[in-house]
Amino acid sequence: MVHHLPQLIPFDQHNRDLESNVHPPDWKNPNPASNYHLVVIGAGTAGLVTAAAAAGLGARVALIERDLMGGDCLNVGCVPSKSLIAAARFAASGQHGKKMGFASSDSPRIHFPEVMERMRKQRAQISPVDSAKRFKELGVDVFFGQASFVNDQTISVQSASQPATNLKFKKAVVASGARAKIPEIPGLGQVDFLTNETLFSLTELPPRLGVIGGGPIGCEIAQCFTRFGSDVSLFERGANVLGREDSEAAKVVQSQFEKEGMSLFLESNDLTLEKTEHGILVRGLKGKTGKPFAATVDKLLIAVGRTPNLENLNLESANVACNAHGIVVNDSLQTSNPKVFAAGDVCSKYKFTHAADFQARIVIQNALFSIGPLGRKKASQLLIPRATYTSPEIAHVGLYPQEAKEQSIEIDTFTQSFEHVDRAILESAEEGFVKIHTRKGTDQIIGATIVAEHAGDLISEVSVAITNKIGLSKIGATIHPYPTYADAIRKLGDQFNKTKLTPLNQKILKWLLRINVGR
Ligand SMILES: Cc1cc2nc3c(=O)[nH]c(=O)nc-3n(C[C@H](O)[C@H](O)[C@H](O)COP(=O)(O)OP(=O)(O)OC[C@H]3O[C@@H](n4cnc5c(N)ncnc54)[C@H](O)[C@@H]3O)c2cc1C
Repeated sequence: MVHHLPQLIPFDQHNRDLESNVHPPDWKNPNPASNYHLVVIGAGTAGLVTAAAAAGLGARVALIERDLMGGDCLNVGCVPSKSLIAAARFAASGQHGKKMGFASSDSPRIHFPEVMERMRKQRAQISPVDSAKRFKELGVDVFFGQASFVNDQTISVQSASQPATNLKFKKAVVASGARAKIPEIPGLGQVDFLTNETLFSLTELPPRLGVIGGGPIGCEIAQCFTRFGSDVSLFERGANVLGREDSEAAKVVQSQFEKEGMSLFLESNDLTLEKTEHGILVRGLKGKTGKPFAATVDKLLIAVGRTPNLENLNLESANVACNAHGIVVNDSLQTSNPKVFAAGDVCSKYKFTHAADFQARIVIQNALFSIGPLGRKKASQLLIPRATYTSPEIAHVGLYPQEAKEQSIEIDTFTQSFEHVDRAILESAEEGFVKIHTRKGTDQIIGATIVAEHAGDLISEVSVAITNKIGLSKIGATIHPYPTYADAIRKLGDQFNKTKLTPLNQKILKWLLRINVGR
């Protein structure tokens, strides 16, 4: 097993298959070319997309990965979490059944080891796309080992099992990603805690799970394990979970958590941890009242944000500047060394797979196919939607009202509750809404939030509209099949069109009516 990586535990057939794709144990690093057009550090989404596309366009490319190709998304992020979420939705179907008129409200009984095995199987099934073999076939030289800059034209690759190598580059891309941020909580050093790197290796359902951090990762996992039957305590410093989202949308999700029996410790300050004979004792003080609270859990997940992977890169030797948020880049994703670019979680505040993917496309264009500033693409032009896969999901694209205010953009807001959308009523899923913000007095969409069971899919209609400058009025004039959740978006077009019914328009309509059908 490669370095005994925690991601590959348990080392069953599925994880062996995963390993054989994303870090083959018998892999021999190739003999390096005398010079590469592009050397890419990190084979997560950003690095893989950069390497594959650059090689496809004729560049000589080397890709260096120290652990598992596929990075966080495949191994310890999007893929395993969404597999568990799908299982958790099924687990919750019993509660939903009651609303549907079924006699029993019992949820299906979970067999946690099989849920986790299903996840490992699916992850292995997806992994050939990110495999060393595939990238070799695409013409990329794949090196396993730790990358670090030697100077501004050389990167070394160090590995315990292979001879050290130096790679010469014309251009380089740092796509080394991020990892779980570990907060300074007294007692944390004394307890065994989980992060996203170890969570997906669990083989037994913890009877009591503590989750520190009520952001997207913490919320997705907390709800998942609540639905599996763990007694989940979620500790969040803010007054609500999902503090970055539209607060009304976050409240819909929060109240669902409460309905499902999750224990929410909001405004939790001054946390301390202690290992006791009963488990891990989490203590803290609540908000301004300073009222003490305590909960004992069997396992504890830390999900308080991400920290960039900068260590060991020896960035100074290539004059690449960084700070606590990651590698510093300009709008072309170029670092302080014009020959070195960065993409993905290591440099971006948008820590999503789709953001890493589209930043990688910008890097290829700017690093290899532009002439000076000519033909350069700008990262700020990317419209990056986001989705959190709780039940219901929250999805957002464009500006939030506060951001519009900061940019002195006046807005109108149109809201359609799912309480008046027939499909949602018929499926007993009325909680939630679509909110679209337009530039004041116009139908130009500048932002939208959706909270609904399939919000992550629904938001794409609004993203297409914003990207292609399609106004809300045109969405209103587009036929949507009945009954669908997406009809809520069309209804907002109708709402907008009604605002255009001026007194003059109304008079004209009355006059036309009189001509056609009389008084
Ligand atoms: C639990 C969880 C769930 C998530 N769910 C979603 C989701 O549903 N949708 C979504 O869009 N995003 C999701 N994300 C975020 C998503 O996983 C990341 O945004 C994405 O993986 C970023 O890709 P990246 O290429 O920048 O970095 P990474 O995927 O982190 O890849 C970086 C790679 O670089 C390697 N590396 C680092 N340093 C070196 C070095 N010195 N030498 C060699 N190799 C090095 C690492 O080993 C790693 O493989 C989730 C994240 C987590 C943790």
